[in-house]
Formats: sequence, C-alpha cells, structure tokens
Amino acid sequence: MSQDKPDQNDHIRLFLPGPVEVRPEVLRAQAGWMVGHRSAEFRALFARLQPKLRALFQTQHRVYVSTSSGSGLWEAASRCCVRPGRPVLHLVNGAFSARWAEVSQANGKEVDVIEAAWGRAITPEQVEEALRARAYDAVAATYNETSTGVLNPLGAIAAVVRQHPDTLLLADVVSALAGAPLPTDAWGIDVCLASSQKAVALPPGVAFAAVSDRALARAAEVPNRGYYFDFLVLEKYLQRDQTPATPPISLLFAADVQLDAILAEGLEARVARHQAMAQSVQAWALGAGFGLFAEDGYRSPTVTTVANTRGIDFAALDAYLRTRGMAISNGYGKLKGQTFRIGHMGEVTPADVQTLLDAIDAFLAGG
Ligand SMILES: *Cc1c(COP(=O)(O)O)cnc(C)c1O
Repeated sequence: MSQDKPDQNDHIRLFLPGPVEVRPEVLRAQAGWMVGHRSAEFRALFARLQPKLRALFQTQHRVYVSTSSGSGLWEAASRCCVRPGRPVLHLVNGAFSARWAEVSQANGKEVDVIEAAWGRAITPEQVEEALRARAYDAVAATYNETSTGVLNPLGAIAAVVRQHPDTLLLADVVSALAGAPLPTDAWGIDVCLASSQKAVALPPGVAFAAVSDRALARAAEVPNRGYYFDFLVLEKYLQRDQTPATPPISLLFAADVQLDAILAEGLEARVARHQAMAQSVQAWALGAGFGLFAEDGYRSPTVTTVANTRGIDFAALDAYLRTRGMAISNGYGKLKGQTFRIGHMGEVTPADVQTLLDAIDAFLAGG
C-alpha cells in the first residue's frame, strides 16, 4: 500500500457534507516552506492554479481565489452584482439558499424570494414566472442544497435566466463542484462560487469563484462594493498572479496537488463515481427501511439526506460509528433527528461507502 492509503483506523474518516477526507499527500503538501506572497515562486504557483481551476469549472473566464470559506463569496456575489434599487431573486429550498438570501439582505440589497418546500427542487417554471413578473439584476441559485440533499436543476434554470439579458445568474455550487456536472460557461453562469472543503476535498479556508465578463462589467456599475470581496480588486491582482491580501499559501500548495489529481481522474469519471455512491446509499436507505428526504429525480450525487422513518437514535449511531473510525452528520437545523446525512463526496470511494453502510447495518442489528 502506498503512503496514500494510511491505516484506516488512525483517524475518524469523515462522511460529512463538508469538511471531508483530505488525502495524506494533499495534507502533506501544506507542510512546504513558506514563500512570500509577492515572490516569483508564489506568482508561479498562482499562475499554475488558474488553468486548473478553469478546467475544474469548465470556464474560459477567470477564477478568483478568496481567503475565506464559501460564505465570503456569497457576500462578494451579492455586493458586486446587484445595483442599488434593483432587486435580486433568491431561489430558496433549504438552509443554505435561505442564508444566502439573508446575506443579500444584510448587504442592503432588495431581495425577492421564490421558495420550494425543503426536500423539493426549485423548478425552471417557477423562475420563468418570477422573471416575467419583474426585472431582476440577478438570480441567486443554489445548485446542491446540502441541508436537504436536493440537486436543483441548475442547467434548466440557467436556460430560463439566459432569456433575460440584463439578469445575471449567480450560483452557489459549494457542495457540487467536482461532484456534479457543472459546465459553467455552457450553462451561462456569471458567478459560480464554491468552497474548498466539499467535493474538491481540500481543507477549509479558501474559496473559488468563476466570474464572467458580464459580472465584472456589472460590478463596475455598483457603488460600495467594499474591498475584501470586490471582484474588481480581485481582478486587478489576478492580472499580476497575485491576491490583494495575504493568501493561505499552504492551502494553495495543497490545491496545486489536489487539482492535478481531480483532473487526472477526469471530471466525467469523478461525477460518475459520485453518482454511483449516491445510488448505493439511496438503495441501502430504502432497503434498510428508511426514506429519502429529497424528491425523486433531484437527489444529490454528493450528499444523501436519509429520512429517519425508523426513528433511530442518531446520537447512538454516531457514537457507534466513531468506535469504528467513521463519522456521518445529523440532519441540518430543523431537520435534526428527523433526518441524518451521509456525505459521499471528494475522495470517498464506493468501497469506503460500502464499509460505512455495513457498519450502520451492524448498528441496526444491535451492534
Ligand atoms: C457548506 C455550504 C455553504 C457554506 O460554505 P462555507 O464554506 O462553510 O462558508 C454554502 N452553501 C452550500 C450549498 C454549502 O454546502
């Protein structure tokens, strides 16, 4: 076995919807000696990341690197892409999409919301109707609602938004990037933002946003964009292969290694692996007498929200799994107890998932 398959019992393996398992090789890449963030070495590293990030997002546009978690880029997208006095339309069907709407509001934007019940997908028809009724500066959509395990039909929603040339499409792809199909440019997404610690399988602390020329042109028309999350400031520094403030240099060493691994696996193969894992978790859940919280046809490839129809004690299951060196997640917010979540994203393999499901079966059989 290579060093990259460490003793599986030396730590708790995470089957969480973020943070996720990070490969030892990637963890070790963070231990490199520091370089100055204005040095030639850093600029070479930063320049090397760009084509890899563009390939990951399937975009010809730039990809900004933000020293923040994904939430910071919510703020960036809301602040930079919505003009004063013009509304932004948020599509809300879970905790993360709801929080992004709050972020827009907290930044003084005028927010309209269309909703679907938790567990249901937002439909393109709902979006079409809303866009016919009012002119929006932007639509803010969440691709994979990590709280419910719903993968919204982002491609079809994008096609609707694209009928409205003055409306930008902002997409949270935090728990979908590198785990679900995401042709950013082909779908016409203007701001496509993601965190490092989900399906990209890096440690937390850095976030990425693919940003279109249209979004940059919009930013130039918006006053009070702030500084730290201003796309125009990020753009100016990106042109010099730098970031405005000190970046998480160690994490970027790790990203350099991990992005190579992702692209070597191939995006299609990677997405297929995620879909296969999702299918086995779904089949297991139904077979074990549980339900699936997300509606059929819109179930996430990266996280499965199991409806706890058997009424099992999640704390007891969690404690048992930890003795076996594994961790899953309780339901999110109001879904705690009612559901639990199994993350199958990043470097997790179908064999790992089988090991987890066998352990849950053993727990259900009485340990
Ligand atoms: C995890 C998550 C977030 C929040 O990301 P942070 O990196 O924790 O800020 C936002 N949206 C979705 C869909 C998520 O899964």
